[in-house]
Amino acid sequence: MTDCLFCKIVRGEIPAKVVYEDDELLAFNDIRPHAPVHFLLIPKRHIESLLTVNEADQALLGKMLATAPSIAKQLGLQAGFKMGVNTGAAGGQEVFHLHLHVLGTPQE
Ligand code: AMP
Ligand code: ZN
Repeated sequence: MTDCLFCKIVRGEIPAKVVYEDDELLAFNDIRPHAPVHFLLIPKRHIESLLTVNEADQALLGKMLATAPSIAKQLGLQAGFKMGVNTGAAGGQEVFHLHLHVLGTPQE
């Protein structure tokens, strides 16, 4: 997906403040944060939306859910956070590369 904004971030063609990376996942700060901590966790492989996932994506989706809390904790969100996935145009999705929003305020 050469035109996809988040694929460009994966390829390093657009800068982002990366907060986590492994062979399958990338997390970076949202450019328009809605909370003191607001990062997006994406699969490096292009998946359009939760509306297009299939059985072959199950392990990757599970890894995303399991990885998000450890990133959140490293960014000060040990006490908790909000997570969301805007899905489809009617669900408010603007970038059609699957991403988890993780938001929160670090606690003392
Ligand atoms: P949505 O598709 O509605 O879940 O929203 C996409 C999110 O991506 C928004 O919160 C944007 O602020 C964010 N965003 C858009 N462009 C960038 C970028 N270049 N770097 C980081 N975040 C971005
Ligand atoms: Zn993409």
